[in-house]
Amino acid sequence: NRKVVLSRRPQGEIQDGDLSLVEAPVRELKDGEVLIKTLWLSLDPYMRPRMNDSKGYMDPIGIGEVIVGESIGRVIESNSDNYQVGDLVTVYSGWQEYCIIPGDAAMVYKIKEQGAPLQTYLGVAGMPGRTGYCGLMYVGKPKAGETVVVSAASGPVGTVVGQTAKQLGCRVVGVAGGPDKCNYVVNELGFDACVDYKAGNLEADLAAACPNGIDVYFENVGGDVAKAVAKLLNPGARVPVCGYVSAYNVADQSQVETPFHIFGKLDPKPEHRFFLVTEWQDQHQEITALLAGQVASGQLKYSETIAEGLDNAVEAFKGMLKGKNFGKQLVHIAD
Ligand code: NDP
Repeated sequence: NRKVVLSRRPQGEIQDGDLSLVEAPVRELKDGEVLIKTLWLSLDPYMRPRMNDSKGYMDPIGIGEVIVGESIGRVIESNSDNYQVGDLVTVYSGWQEYCIIPGDAAMVYKIKEQGAPLQTYLGVAGMPGRTGYCGLMYVGKPKAGETVVVSAASGPVGTVVGQTAKQLGCRVVGVAGGPDKCNYVVNELGFDACVDYKAGNLEADLAAACPNGIDVYFENVGGDVAKAVAKLLNPGARVPVCGYVSAYNVADQSQVETPFHIFGKLDPKPEHRFFLVTEWQDQHQEITALLAGQVASGQLKYSETIAEGLDNAVEAFKGMLKGKNFGKQLVHIAD
């Protein structure tokens, strides 16, 4: 079993030697256990803060431990009545080719195939998709005619936020890095506009794209984008704080001006709060089915970037934190 472990805590950007690919035999299954072979591994921004030695909303990864992550796997051996050989599941396996779970483990879901490509259950029909959907609907609470802005617009979270807000009749403005991503967001995903924050004219471009101000800002990146948005928020605006990826590689987190600093000092204060997708875990099946159905019918568009094999996972992950990915970043491990 090949796996990627944390050898040393990264200081800032991940360097050679921080993460290592190691090999160990797969042990014998005990009673009640299930052996799962990883087919697709999901790379997600949250994995970077978990490599730090600070307790956030989840415990840090220990030195020598496998890097956390969700994957799609196939059951290849089962000592549990709950799983049969051949079952396809989403499971928090970590970055490894095989994992063993107790047959009653939480957060493992059998995939009910309904025509969406398998790997989308890690992207727009998976955890990031549910994050976008729930954060928008339950924290952002958009109404038809309002202006909704979402950053990291071409990624799986932003893709679902924007297309869901369009379905509700909102004016939807994305923020993304570079002309290719911005063109895609408007021409393929159907947003009304997309601002390239790397073009050097962020504040003016955003103001021009939001002539009626901003009613909902779905926060994925923080930093300069958040500051530009803050100047345009309408009274009564809502800011679901989903993440702030621009700061994830900063070595001294105490120096980061977070979205809570930026939005908390405004007058009037927007309704803003951090949320975790697990707040709506009881709706996992229902929202997964809704999003997978939209993928299958072609209504929900998306893109993905695929790295081949565990050997390329670290480089792909480093690239994603700098925006080298175009859509959901995946690692294909096996068929
Ligand atoms: P993406 O696939 O969108 O990847 C991250 C993107 O962030 C990059 O592609 C890049 O896009 C953008 N980015 C990177 N650096 C910067 C920067 N300095 N300034 C602005 N943008 C930057 O990721 P996801 O869709 O998976 O996740 C989006 C957000 O959602 C993250 O903040 C993540 O942590 C959060 N999240 C939160 C969850 C929760 O429960 N609260 C659950 C899942 C995700 P570009 O090239 O356009 O800049």
